[in-house]
Amino acid sequence: MATINRNYKRLAAGYLFPEIGRRTDEWEKKTGLKAMKLGIGNTTEPMSEIITDTLAAASYALAEGNGFKLKNPELETEDILLRDAKLDNYTGYGAEQGNEFLREQLVKFYLNIGVKLDSTEFFVSDGAKCDSGNIQSIFGLENIVAVQDPAYPVYVDTNVIAGRAGLFDNETGQYDGLVYMLCNEENGFMPSVPKDYTSEVIDGMGISERKGVDMIYLCSPNNPTSAVMTKDKIQEFVDYARENKAVIIFDSAYAAFIKDDNLPRSIYEIPGAKECAIEISSFSKYAGFTGVRAGWSIVPKDLVVEGTVPGEVHGLWNRRQCTFFNGASNIVQAGAIAALSNEGQKACMKQVNFYMDNAKIIREGLNEVGLKTFGGDNAPYIWMQTPNKMDSWNFFDKLLEETRVVGTPGSGFGPSGQGYFRLSAFGHRENVEQAVQSIKDNLRL
Ligand SMILES: *Cc1c(COP(=O)(O)O)cnc(C)c1O
Repeated sequence: MATINRNYKRLAAGYLFPEIGRRTDEWEKKTGLKAMKLGIGNTTEPMSEIITDTLAAASYALAEGNGFKLKNPELETEDILLRDAKLDNYTGYGAEQGNEFLREQLVKFYLNIGVKLDSTEFFVSDGAKCDSGNIQSIFGLENIVAVQDPAYPVYVDTNVIAGRAGLFDNETGQYDGLVYMLCNEENGFMPSVPKDYTSEVIDGMGISERKGVDMIYLCSPNNPTSAVMTKDKIQEFVDYARENKAVIIFDSAYAAFIKDDNLPRSIYEIPGAKECAIEISSFSKYAGFTGVRAGWSIVPKDLVVEGTVPGEVHGLWNRRQCTFFNGASNIVQAGAIAALSNEGQKACMKQVNFYMDNAKIIREGLNEVGLKTFGGDNAPYIWMQTPNKMDSWNFFDKLLEETRVVGTPGSGFGPSGQGYFRLSAFGHRENVEQAVQSIKDNLRL
């Protein structure tokens, strides 16, 4: 007799983006019109040839087994150094934590922002979503989880599935037992450490009360608000985590979009972070790898949580990955190396800047018609207040019906997102311009 993991039944709603897709398809069928999509954060611009040529060469190398030949030899510049990646022959399973040369390039990538890590602390993966969902599995089920509200839904949903949450409360929009760190206009969409949160512990000694949280998810720049945490703000979390042997899971998928040099691009820019923080990041938004798939996580050897010695948590993540995952594709890892080469970085940053120009177009267009917006200066999302703070899903329908534009209801990212809406800057320029024009012309305010 097989039963299911009943925690799935606790999930309050279907995953946000399929629901948006469903409503959009239904509307398109009903009207025969095509929606303009600024909803999902999905990259749209063609990749640089520096990357695609490397993907192709890495693929041909598997067949020919006689050298790593770029189709376009002009791309074989000194700084690409692809031969050093040792992908010049047929290869099967690779190093479990990822291609060593790629991990060395990641070390250099971090050195550029003054962060010194060891290549053995990196784990290359098929993306940041998987890592940010899977990482909880190496921690105890009794841990109290704190999340930003609003936040990327994966942190909450994966902890609900794992069993770290109680029932969903329709009134508050929150799960019992999860701690929501409010991010609103008053605090600049920046969370505070939930030091005073109390919970009950039931054990052989009876019921006792305890204070604080154990696993803290931070995303900076945050999806959906675009808010970037300052060094001082992250320091508060790091100090708390070290004092209480809590762990911070830091998602930096949008680090490359930060324009303000005073803002940290990695949590390891903050003193003490290596003792308490895991960083997860991705090639998806930086290099257009949303379909190609590559990301990485960093579990420093210095990291400790309650009852562990340095290296132990790192070892657990290695054990987890070796058991459940067989490594990122060797072809894709070659593409990732190309994305980190000097030429590759230039090409990727050009695309990042392109999307950020889109963000400016969207932000200015919305502001022109009097809509209140946040963000869009250090991350590719515009977070807007709905007119008269109307319900986020009602605004989704109104925007679609009046302007044909699809966005993302803020309430899908947590209860504090109610009355807000997210527009994504990922799109072809003409589509973004058309969508903004349509909002200006057709939205009835
Ligand atoms: C897009 C996104 C990711 C997903 O990254 P993949 O590497 O494509 O899995 C992770 N975190 C946040 C906050 C994102 O917005």
